[in-house]
Amino acid sequence: MSKKKFQIYLFGGLVVVLISIYGHIRLHKRPGLPQNIATSEIRQIDETKILIEKDVEFFLSTKVIGDRVRLIYETEGTTREKDVHLIPYYYQTSTHIVFLVIGLVGFVVGLLVFILRPEEPRTRVFYLAFLAFSAPVIISSGYFSIQKAWFSYLPGVLFYLLYAFVPALMLHFILFFYRTSVLKRIGLIYIPAVFFAGLLIGLFLYTALNTSIFHFRYFQKAYYIFRHYVFIYIVTSVIFLILAYRKSSTKEEQAQLKWIYYFLLLGLGPFIILYQLPLLLRFTPVLSEEFSSVFFIFIPIGFAISIIRFRLMNIELIINRSLVYSFLTIFTVSVYLFSVRVFQGLISRIVVVQEATVTAIAALAAAAVFHPARRKIQHFVDKSFFRIAYDYRENIRSFNKEAHQIAETSLLVDLFLSKVNTVLPLDHIGIVVFAYKGGVRTLLVKRDGDTSLELLAPDLTGTHAVMARKKAVQVENGLNFAQEHKLENLKLELAFPLPFRSAALSGFVTLGKKKSGAKFTRDDIELLMGLAEGVALNLERIRLQEEVILEQAEIQKLDELNRMKTEFISTVSHEIRTPLSSIHGLSELLQSGKIKDRIEEEKVLNIMAEECGRLSRFMHNILDMGKIEQDAKTYSCARVDVRPVITETIQLFRSQLESGGFLVQTEIPEEPVFLVIDRDAVKQALTNLVDNAIKYSSEKREITIRLIEQENDVTIQIQDKGIGIRERDRDKIYTNFYRASEAVQHSPQGVGLGLKVVRHIMQAHKGEITCKSQLGKGSTFSLVFPK
Ligand code: ADP
Repeated sequence: MSKKKFQIYLFGGLVVVLISIYGHIRLHKRPGLPQNIATSEIRQIDETKILIEKDVEFFLSTKVIGDRVRLIYETEGTTREKDVHLIPYYYQTSTHIVFLVIGLVGFVVGLLVFILRPEEPRTRVFYLAFLAFSAPVIISSGYFSIQKAWFSYLPGVLFYLLYAFVPALMLHFILFFYRTSVLKRIGLIYIPAVFFAGLLIGLFLYTALNTSIFHFRYFQKAYYIFRHYVFIYIVTSVIFLILAYRKSSTKEEQAQLKWIYYFLLLGLGPFIILYQLPLLLRFTPVLSEEFSSVFFIFIPIGFAISIIRFRLMNIELIINRSLVYSFLTIFTVSVYLFSVRVFQGLISRIVVVQEATVTAIAALAAAAVFHPARRKIQHFVDKSFFRIAYDYRENIRSFNKEAHQIAETSLLVDLFLSKVNTVLPLDHIGIVVFAYKGGVRTLLVKRDGDTSLELLAPDLTGTHAVMARKKAVQVENGLNFAQEHKLENLKLELAFPLPFRSAALSGFVTLGKKKSGAKFTRDDIELLMGLAEGVALNLERIRLQEEVILEQAEIQKLDELNRMKTEFISTVSHEIRTPLSSIHGLSELLQSGKIKDRIEEEKVLNIMAEECGRLSRFMHNILDMGKIEQDAKTYSCARVDVRPVITETIQLFRSQLESGGFLVQTEIPEEPVFLVIDRDAVKQALTNLVDNAIKYSSEKREITIRLIEQENDVTIQIQDKGIGIRERDRDKIYTNFYRASEAVQHSPQGVGLGLKVVRHIMQAHKGEITCKSQLGKGSTFSLVFPK
């Protein structure tokens, strides 16, 4: 709809309402007879003979309040005569105010619907129907507002014009729900409306301008025929409404129509059956026109409920909900003001105080009572109008709150599935999520989902994302039924994609039947979509978080590697430089020929050999380490006696042990102890352990080496009485480069590789290395070989 057309609609509505209100104001000038005289008893006013009651109405419309008239009337069989002054018609009744409210409510309902969906033809008809309905209700009747000023004819003209169109517009609106094909010739139903509008307006103006009761009677006759038209159209509308109801395929549609139907009957029923029908049949109406029209209030209310609760014309619930709250606020504020008045009255009756004080106390008292009352009302509205949607929204909110705190994909998915199952128990619910990285797809999550559905992925995007089987749902709008067969084959009712924002994830949710057996409603689908939205959002969040953590870990690892590399280089160079410079110094000393003593010379040569041994052991360990790391170290085993391996090792350290003043004890069996081992490797392991025992001994320089043969295994023990190892370090000493702080303090030499190599050797022999130690008292390392 173009903007201009939209504005014309709005402007037209405004003009109609303004004229109606003007007509309503004129009602206050409507003259009436004094209370004690019944209209039905009047036979003549001034010179005018009264034939039917309506004549009085017309006669009075030519007068003003305060005019003096002569009445001839008949009571209890006798004719009397009396001069009376005309008084305001609405002196005691306030029905005109009620009509103003009904009319305005009707207008507001129509206007809102139109503003919310101006592009839909049926909302336009709806708006026009309510406009046409509201104006005559506010104006109340054509004749009352005439006061001989040309402008005052306007409300009357409007009254007959719109009144004639109400039944046609109503029928038109209802036909939208019946069958759209009939709308092609919809112009036809307006023919009587145009005819009656013209006829009534013509006669009305003619009568009023001539102030003639004679012409008025013609008008009355035309009006009588007009009633038939109104009656027939309303009855036809109700019949089409029933037909539309029976034809409607979904429960949702039926619910929408049911409410219109109920309230139309309630609103129009009394007017049609108790007022119009008796008049048509020339009986006296059961109810007065005014009283029967009060029921009109149910018409806008019924439509409002249909719109708000059952989404008549697909108007979004959320907007209407805030609307209902606005109405509620207006209502509660009025109740509040009213209660202040009541309290004011009560208080001033009980105690005598100044008026300001009374008002203040009254306001406080009312507020105290009012606050809980308001909450109750709000709660009531929530429950009765929005019960289903309310719970659903609450569920989505609570789910999002919980989901937000979850940091793990599987926990999040668990929460989603359990939430759906508690709110909407289902036979089946599945979820599948894929992650994409560098063009490669991996399955991130799969719970009861069927990955074959992924073939539908191209169909699962865009607006018609929710795939459904027609039989499974109450609503059809916005759903995609193209994959019904596929869903049926998979025994599914619904399937929809998870609405991920990034292309890094994709996935979908699959649903089976509701346990209740009922179809999926719009609320159900909205709940599911709401929850799916939450899952998707949080899955993306978790994914991002994980990526950030991974990246951080990667950076930390690189830093650590760099640090280790530098440390390794500095330790290794230190470890090589010390013995090298020692050998260098000693060889120079020998060369200089300064050492004459044979014993001295041997001492120097021993030290040199020791340093060379240390260097070679160190190089051995480093090279082994490299092989171990690359998984390239190989062993070649053979059956050997272990005893010589031990003695040879001790022999390697002989001079070092002697010069260090060590007491070495060996407990080795007399008989050979055979094992299948890599001789060199075991010797290297023993070397490393003896080296440590020497290095970490302090005052008590005692080392005991045992070879123990048992039934299933053979153990070689190296025991020292040195610095010992703290409990907390005992597991770490086998890892690369680890050195206990005591060890570093005690002996700066060492890189923390020896034990790692030993353990690897033991693992290769299917054996193990264990350590018993006490800080400050010494350590015992055992190499246990299975036989
Ligand atoms: P390094 O001796 O070169 O430091 P090792 O791998 O041989 O490397 O030993 C690792 C650590 O285990 C040592 O730094 C030390 O803290 C501890 N350790 C090993 N053997 C002994 C022992 N006999 N007494 C005390 N501590 C020891």
